[in-house]
Amino acid sequence: MSKVKKSEAEGTPLKFFGDWKYAPAPESKEHIRLKKQYGLFINGEFVQPKSKKYFDTINPATEEKIAEIAIADEKDVDLAVNAASKAYNNVWKKMHAKERAKYIYRIARMIQERARELAVIETMNGGKPIRESRDIDVPLAANHFFYYAGWADKLNYAFPNRTPQSLGVAGQIIPWNFPLLMAAWKIAPALAAGNTVVLKPAETTSLTALKLAEIIAESGLPEGVVNIVTGFGKTGAAIVQHPNVNKVAFTGSTDVGKIIQKAIAGTSKRVTLELGGKAANIVFDDAPIDQAVEGIVNGIFFNQGHVCCAGSRLLVQEGVADIVIRKLKERMETLIVGDPMDKNTDIGAINSKEQLKKIQQYITIGINEGAELYQSSCTLPNKGFFCKPTLFLNTSQSHRVVQEEIFGPVLAVQTFRTVEEAIEKANNIPYGLSAGIWTDKGSKIFNMTTKLRAGVVWANTYNKFDPTSPFGGYKESGFGREGGLHGLLPYLQL
Ligand code: ADP
Repeated sequence: MSKVKKSEAEGTPLKFFGDWKYAPAPESKEHIRLKKQYGLFINGEFVQPKSKKYFDTINPATEEKIAEIAIADEKDVDLAVNAASKAYNNVWKKMHAKERAKYIYRIARMIQERARELAVIETMNGGKPIRESRDIDVPLAANHFFYYAGWADKLNYAFPNRTPQSLGVAGQIIPWNFPLLMAAWKIAPALAAGNTVVLKPAETTSLTALKLAEIIAESGLPEGVVNIVTGFGKTGAAIVQHPNVNKVAFTGSTDVGKIIQKAIAGTSKRVTLELGGKAANIVFDDAPIDQAVEGIVNGIFFNQGHVCCAGSRLLVQEGVADIVIRKLKERMETLIVGDPMDKNTDIGAINSKEQLKKIQQYITIGINEGAELYQSSCTLPNKGFFCKPTLFLNTSQSHRVVQEEIFGPVLAVQTFRTVEEAIEKANNIPYGLSAGIWTDKGSKIFNMTTKLRAGVVWANTYNKFDPTSPFGGYKESGFGREGGLHGLLPYLQL
């Protein structure tokens, strides 16, 4: 029996301040330092690319050019990998783990010191709201370095009765949704485990990785221990295929993950892949409804749905479906879509024109499949790439908007009657990265967590991250874990 009375579900709409505007609260850009052109960070210094080619990186909220970024070709990647190899054999491998820890710790401190600058650049280059960059991405990036600095000289305690040994050069390729945080997720455990690194940021969001390169240079980290090369898919492929790369760590699309796995088949390279997701946020009829609605909004709309573990499906128990959907629509009306640099903004810019096009194509697909579209009535800025928060109601399990990753602020809604049906629907997709459960009952949570095929399951919350906690997926969401003790394993031979 539902705890919510029918009359409550059908009652007069809740009041919200739809017409009431917040005064603009733009974050200042004055304190940031950006160069007009960025080279490649190889062997401790910024160098011109051998290719002599550059591309423009833009602000997706204004479509304005911010800087020129170097394109690394095979020769550049070769230089970076050789620098990492030399640094590994001559310096980093031989250094006492306690000394290695000090460098990692210093990088963490310097990220904290330059947090404001990093947050502003992250938002300018990626389009995410400044609140997200400032309160989540940058502090978490620093925390990852702090956390792994702590493990660097304690690997024998982390893996007792084993002999943890580093692997060599780690080639790391990251996506555009959490540019600095993904760099931290990759670099910090690799260094703590005693490896050296060649990292490639995504083509649309290279700037904070390059700022991190400046921090790394200032930190005095021995040259060649971390190299950062920029460019497109071809640059990534050159890293993956380089014979002196011992380990590949990739976060990105399932399609590219499959290409990478094929490319390294038959080699001795180790690999971890963190790929797509299509997480179900499951709301039971005994859930705290207001909290659940806030969790749904946090799960899919904040950060423009640019999160691989986004709660992009809502499974709501029939008895509370009406009230949850009504409250969700009302909350969507209050979401502020627009200038990511404004501290009031909830939903910033879509990362690129291509990504916006992909999201729009999925919206058309959903309509053609017969799902019911609902979008908030907000107006979008004239310039830049923006998308309204979107619901698809009356969807069925076979709909593409239910099965496929959209990577935008689009939520597919389904209902269920029993626990078994919720588990069946949640699991019946190609992905298995994350899930959320909203219920009053601890026993229901424990029952669900054992049956959901998802690497991370949040209970009565969503999208919460901590460096101590492992993250990763099942099925087409990839394999290997990042974060926590588990996050050291891919970088070690035990
Ligand atoms: P998304 O769809 O999130 O943009 P991609 O998988 O296309 O994800 O990109 C993630 C990262 O992988 C980016 O840094 C991109 O440049 C890189 N990349 C793209 N194609 C390849 C490839 N064939 N080999 C290695 N890296 C690649």
